[in-house]
Amino acid sequence: MPVSNTEPALSPSLFHRRLMDDMQPSMSFDGGDVVEWQARLRPKVRELVGFPDGERISLNPQSLWKRDHPDGTIEKLVFHSEPGSDILAYLCLPANAIPPYPFFICVQGHTTGMHHSIAVERDDNSVPMEVAGDRDFGLQCMARGIGALCIEQRSFGERRELVQEQVSTHGCHDASMHALMLGRTLIGERVFDVDRGLDFLETRDDVDWSRIGIMGNSGGGTISLFSAALLRRIKFAMPSCYFCTFRDSMMSIYHCADNYVPGLLKYAEMADVMGLFAPRPVVLVCGVEDTIFPVDATRRAFSDLQRIYRAAGAADRCHLVEGAGGHRFYADDAWPVMLGELERG
Ligand SMILES: [Zn+2]
Repeated sequence: MPVSNTEPALSPSLFHRRLMDDMQPSMSFDGGDVVEWQARLRPKVRELVGFPDGERISLNPQSLWKRDHPDGTIEKLVFHSEPGSDILAYLCLPANAIPPYPFFICVQGHTTGMHHSIAVERDDNSVPMEVAGDRDFGLQCMARGIGALCIEQRSFGERRELVQEQVSTHGCHDASMHALMLGRTLIGERVFDVDRGLDFLETRDDVDWSRIGIMGNSGGGTISLFSAALLRRIKFAMPSCYFCTFRDSMMSIYHCADNYVPGLLKYAEMADVMGLFAPRPVVLVCGVEDTIFPVDATRRAFSDLQRIYRAAGAADRCHLVEGAGGHRFYADDAWPVMLGELERG
């Protein structure tokens, strides 16, 4: 037997990198008719995220408390998502606006939860707190005459996992992995919760359905993007510190388990998933110093997305806002662009 003079290839991760480098997503936008392409890709993404397609139960919304705020009123609600899974949310109604209000669904990422959206401590909900990185989305909406429904995402905040055996820094691990075994993903379940939030808004008479948006940062950016891609009732989207390429973010840099969708990269890159939202207006927000969603890849992905928006006749409705720092939201940079889009309608 000859003596080998090459190093054996023993790394599973380097092997996956090689597979990925040799692979082209088979349903990426091909330059043809956008509507026809979307009609093919959207059900595939919906299937891959394991979107719960069962019968919808009654929401049965209950009010937990309601209080005044200088910019409006805030009410804490609980309502049913699926049998055995309930959603907590803050409903923020602006004082200086006349209904029907534009509304944004607001979702936090890997923080201590939705309490950031209204800048109060989590467990008591009455003690004010400082919110870093412009994550007080609910208050930002109210101050701009926009209603907000701030949803607690599964595995975060008051819905954080309390039963997993080994609590890691990222409490999403067990729920993410168990979802995979059940043919679901946490992304699909969280998008379903957003859809149920829209069902809740349907029960109200103060909602301007031509101006329904979604926003969130990091893990909230993830769900903003997938919700925009899959839910037709959403008309405006502002995902922050998520839009990039899958290759250069979760396939190259450590991300926790709730970022992964089995098989997705065989079919589509992130720009394709976001492209399912075209021609509806999108304001993508990134930080030029974000270390987990590298800005160079974000710019390349944005160029791919612009191609889709151009083909959809909406080149001017797709925006990339670059904040000067790291992984956070940039309210002063992003809101003027979104408000311009909301005014256009
Ligand atoms: Zn996570």
